[in-house]
Amino acid sequence: MPIYKVKLKSKQEIAAGTMAFYFEKPEGFAYKAGQFADCTLINPAETDTEGNMRAFSLASAPYEDFLMFATRMRDTAFKRVLKIMALGTELTLDAPYGSFTLHNNASIPAVFLTGGIGVTPVRSIVLQATHDKLPHKIFLFDSNNRPEDAAFLDELTEAQKENTNCTFIGTMTQMETSSRAWHGETGFITQAMLLKSIGNLTLPIYYIAGPRVMVQAMREILNEAGVNDDNIRTEEFSGY
Ligand SMILES: Cc1cc2nc3c(=O)[nH]c(=O)nc-3n(C[C@H](O)[C@H](O)[C@H](O)COP(=O)(O)OP(=O)(O)OC[C@H]3O[C@@H](n4cnc5c(N)ncnc54)[C@H](O)[C@@H]3O)c2cc1C
Repeated sequence: MPIYKVKLKSKQEIAAGTMAFYFEKPEGFAYKAGQFADCTLINPAETDTEGNMRAFSLASAPYEDFLMFATRMRDTAFKRVLKIMALGTELTLDAPYGSFTLHNNASIPAVFLTGGIGVTPVRSIVLQATHDKLPHKIFLFDSNNRPEDAAFLDELTEAQKENTNCTFIGTMTQMETSSRAWHGETGFITQAMLLKSIGNLTLPIYYIAGPRVMVQAMREILNEAGVNDDNIRTEEFSGY
């Protein structure tokens, strides 16, 4: 895989403690929605035992003219450097990798189950499917503590207006700590919540993205509902 150097164009807080970083897209760089990049800091001012490299999903969609990833800004050397990185600074991108990409057969629905920052590859997939007017039925169940924590909430809510094949179901697990109004689902993603929107749970291909515990919990729910492991694809965000 070729290695690219990419320049930081802008950065923005997109949810509580969560930032998106936008980079120039190198000439000839091609990727599929849902893939990820290994990002390495070049000569950072500080480093720690985890090193200067992290894997990040490309949250930008391939049709967009920039590359973007989004991350929870925890207090690690890598993220401290990233947070204060001057615009124009370069980092190294080893990419694209991964097969967390939408299946081809449009007669099979796609169900995405995301936890927190696990929504990043799914932003790319949903926006690209909408742009390409793909006929796939898409359901996105996106779980967060509070609306304040939910990255891309407005964008994904809007996407279903443009793409009538797409249904966005946000759910909040700690609304008692929120100061925002929320009229959607609350609590963890359950089999009952899935059944309400999907009906036959054994038909779709499922895509789970998020921290390991969340991925495991979702797989258990699906297995209990009779979903075959062959129809479950996962992206585990190590480090959370
Ligand atoms: C394929 C793939 C795609 C990914 N995509 C994304 C993405 O799009 N966005 C994203 O944010 N991450 C993504 N990740 C995870 C990402 O690579 C990092 O592991 C993650 O962001 C954590 O990095 P860190 O610097 O905060 O912590 P690290 O320095 O990597 O932390 C290592 C360990 O220290 C502990 N730790 C460190 N800080 C804290 C803290 N404040 N609180 C609790 N525990 C802590 C944790 O136990 C963690 O396991 C992806 C991972 C993979 C494998």
